[in-house]
Amino acid sequence: MKVYWTAFYGRSEYTFQGRNAKRDAHRLVKRFGGRVVREGPAIKHLHKPKTFVSRCFSGPVDSYRPNPRAHGWTTVEQTCRCGSTRLVNVNQQQKELGHWQTES
Ligand SMILES: [Zn+2]
Repeated sequence: MKVYWTAFYGRSEYTFQGRNAKRDAHRLVKRFGGRVVREGPAIKHLHKPKTFVSRCFSGPVDSYRPNPRAHGWTTVEQTCRCGSTRLVNVNQQQKELGHWQTES
């Protein structure tokens, strides 16, 4: 069974999967504060971008892996079917993935 580790901090969340998921989630929480929750696939879905809205680049997004090379071209707002959104900076082949934000 696949297990996910989700770090919640403020209104942001970031879900990790795979071999180092637990370690990475705890690292993120160490940096930003918050808590880590272990989840199986039955409990929640992984956010999936369903709609994409492109805008002019509007600055770095709040990202676990900042990537300055993705700056300067466009910022895409992705929305999951559950209503969560995230911002992604795209420039050439470079990407900077923001965290999923859940309205509450
Ligand atoms: Zn979702």
